[in-house]
Amino acid sequence: MKVPIINHPDYVAQIGDDHRFPIKKFGELIKLLKKDGIANEKNIFEPKEVSLNTLHRAHSQYYVEKILKLKLSKDEIRKLGFPLVPSVRRRSLVATGGTVLASKLALEYSLACNTAGGSHHAFAGQGNGYCVFNDVAVAALYLKNKFNLKNILIFDLDVHQGDGTAKILEKYDDIYTVSIHSKKNYPLKKQKSNLDIEIENNIEDNEYLEIIKNALMTINRKKFDFVFYVAGVDIHIDDRIGKMNISTEGVKKREDLVINNFVKNKIPLCGVLGGGYNKSFDKLVLLHSFLHRTCDMLIK
Ligand SMILES: [Zn+2]
Repeated sequence: MKVPIINHPDYVAQIGDDHRFPIKKFGELIKLLKKDGIANEKNIFEPKEVSLNTLHRAHSQYYVEKILKLKLSKDEIRKLGFPLVPSVRRRSLVATGGTVLASKLALEYSLACNTAGGSHHAFAGQGNGYCVFNDVAVAALYLKNKFNLKNILIFDLDVHQGDGTAKILEKYDDIYTVSIHSKKNYPLKKQKSNLDIEIENNIEDNEYLEIIKNALMTINRKKFDFVFYVAGVDIHIDDRIGKMNISTEGVKKREDLVINNFVKNKIPLCGVLGGGYNKSFDKLVLLHSFLHRTCDMLIK
């Protein structure tokens, strides 16, 4: 079978063509996946907006209301990095719904990927760094409550720390957060994940992949019944804000290593994009697609 791929045209919000966030990547990614035969009408699933009940598991009512009414202060909008316009609100609701749907499909089919998601800088009551709602925290709490899952792992390999995820989920003993990120990069103030591994600038493929391998060995000693994989590609050498020196082949090898590990251990995996700000737009879309390609290759 083919891997379920979750996509919605509204993932591409109208934030202005000169905005530094490459929002068009969401539209181009699904185009590329279709062109290369990874996605077709049979394995593409279109999500609905996340329900408010589900959203409130990770976010305060007050914050959700402010987003719904498009009422953030100037300072809050600056921290968010996006203009707070109706299409950004729509995108945030539908992309969070997308990760919830992907997690349900992953439970059913063993693997599923969103073509957005990994908004790991969003806190319960505050958006940050292009992240309005913390889709992975929302979906993890949804799975925990709906399907009574006991040990959920968040494996976050975006170059930036999953600070919002760590903070939102710190009070849940049955959700384990792991973040392997650049030490000297955004966010300035790091939170405490269950396991944080900080990496120095300019790391190269072999050393990086060795760190991931060792982290997976540690993780494999615990028994997890589900994993969310945040596959940020801002680790790439040509990323504008990443500060690591990982090659295209290195990103591909990382996806093989990580996804294979969980498939071998029969742990359902929900993949989400995470960040990517490559100097080359085409390269960026290709890098993000390795997540879906690898899952499509490994699904039984
Ligand atoms: Zn990032």
